[in-house]
Amino acid sequence: MGATRIAFADFAQSDFGWLKRLDSGSTGKVMSVRGSGRRWCFADQLGPHFLDDADQPVLLIESRAAFERRRFHRRKAHLVLSAIRHRAAELGDQALFIQARTYREALDAVKGPITVCQPTSRTADRFVRRQPSVEVLPARGFATDRGTFEQWAEGQHGLLLENFYRDARRRFELLMDGADPTGSRWNFDADNRQPPPKQKTRLDVTAPWFPVEDEIDERVRADLNRWERDGSMSFVGRDGPREFAVTRDEAQAAFDLFMRERLPHFGPYEDAMLKADPWMSHSLLSAPMNLGLLDPLECAYAAQDAYRSGLAPLNSVEGYVRQLIGWRDYIWHVYWHFGDEYRRRNALAARKKVPSWFAELDADAVEAACLRDTLAQVRDHGWVHHIPRLMVLSNFAMQRGWHPAAVTDWFHRCFVDGYDWVMVPNVIGMSQHADGGLMATKPYASGGAYIDRMSDYCGQCRYDPKVRRGDCACPFTAGYWWFLQRNRERLAHNHRMSRPLAGLNRLADLDEVIAQQRRLGSQPP
Ligand SMILES: Cc1cc2nc3c(=O)[nH]c(=O)nc-3n(C[C@H](O)[C@H](O)[C@H](O)COP(=O)(O)OP(=O)(O)OC[C@H]3O[C@@H](n4cnc5c(N)ncnc54)[C@H](O)[C@@H]3O)c2cc1C
Ligand code: SF4
Repeated sequence: MGATRIAFADFAQSDFGWLKRLDSGSTGKVMSVRGSGRRWCFADQLGPHFLDDADQPVLLIESRAAFERRRFHRRKAHLVLSAIRHRAAELGDQALFIQARTYREALDAVKGPITVCQPTSRTADRFVRRQPSVEVLPARGFATDRGTFEQWAEGQHGLLLENFYRDARRRFELLMDGADPTGSRWNFDADNRQPPPKQKTRLDVTAPWFPVEDEIDERVRADLNRWERDGSMSFVGRDGPREFAVTRDEAQAAFDLFMRERLPHFGPYEDAMLKADPWMSHSLLSAPMNLGLLDPLECAYAAQDAYRSGLAPLNSVEGYVRQLIGWRDYIWHVYWHFGDEYRRRNALAARKKVPSWFAELDADAVEAACLRDTLAQVRDHGWVHHIPRLMVLSNFAMQRGWHPAAVTDWFHRCFVDGYDWVMVPNVIGMSQHADGGLMATKPYASGGAYIDRMSDYCGQCRYDPKVRRGDCACPFTAGYWWFLQRNRERLAHNHRMSRPLAGLNRLADLDEVIAQQRRLGSQPP
């Protein structure tokens, strides 16, 4: 082990939490607004940075109603209940922990003033603002505050992620050498989009951190079984040992392992898929981060320190920092910026229902290797990484014209890291192009060639990514032409679509391809 590694070990064990960063005054982060009264922490506000002082009185409410209304993934329900109960146990007498059907019922039992950091959904935000005893403070758990984003957005023509990200790098002095980006480049995407290594079924990377369940998990499982038996709740997906962190200590352990062992490999294969390696070198930290257990800014600074101490190469560190203070924050701000109507956008007039085999995560009904495996991972883990979400699940849905609001609802319920703020822009904007291009300059639609290049699925599949008609026609390749044909007029003004549309016009067998796709419709491929 070299000296730099020892330096990192010291750093990993030290408490370099976000408040220290704030106090340094050099990060561009706005000081948090504090409020007096008991701090109500929602189930996605469980980290120490949602409190003003370590001994502030806390209110935690476990509400069953949300799980009764919709069919969530069983593992998601487990994760959220386990997280809030662990936090209650950790805080002991400091927290008033109420288990009730609704928030309304719980609040009736609380005396005195309450403060809450802005909740992450529009529904919860409206609810807390209607309560006379509750003071709402600015949101926490994101790097850029809303005022700064709106100020930035005012000067922009279109909200390009890349411009927002560069602005954030400057403001937080992250990976900067004076006014220049470290390494003289803002963007290492070209190094970070490699296909999976040839002849390998898995990456040579240490496995991610996984938790060991305890008696709180046991009680959560028993409660969920009971509620399922008595018919008050019903779930999708398969139960199994918990795979994601639910406490600050667990999240820190998962993060430390990621920094030490996995971050160095994060960049190059960020977009690649291997059937036998669902985790690749991803962090698996979206669930604890969205529970509020990790602050994205502290994680970004830690990644920078890993680079500066020689533990991880710049392309991997830049790729990770881009996800945290770029993409994650950008998505959060898009959710608020475009207003409540944004979730109802349907620019491509997609109106088909999500079919039951997809809704029920029935992977066994599917023969297409990439889709079968991705759906099975969702069923078994409630998680797949970014590219299967975007280029397999969402691509398939968009090609077949499934209603974007129904697709959003499906993702929200089936993913352990899914919340309203993060699903609406990721699905409506990024993945279904239902906002008509406010977020992404062109639809993320692609045929089987992309999946073939970026994965090892096609070699094991009964379909052929090069074939668009007949028994071996790849559903993604044929579906791509069907999607373009249906949306030809709607996309005609988009100069980034002119080449694909020109390709469409050259297809001699287009009518047959479309007729076959119409016949197959949304059947499991
Ligand atoms: C259709 C679709 C739905 C998605 N739904 C969610 C969701 O419900 N919750 C969620 O956190 N992410 C969502 N994402 C973004 C991304 O796929 C996940 O954050 C990521 O796969 C989580 O795994 P990880 O923690 O290993 O991520 P890594 O690959 O290790 O990335 C690092 C971190 O960057 C953040 N991040 C990166 N991209 C995004 C993004 N587009 N939006 C928000 N955060 C991002 C996450 O916090 C993540 O932990 C979605 C993407 C798509 C295309
Ligand atoms: S051939 Fe088509 S359906 Fe089969 S794995 Fe490749 S992209 Fe997926």
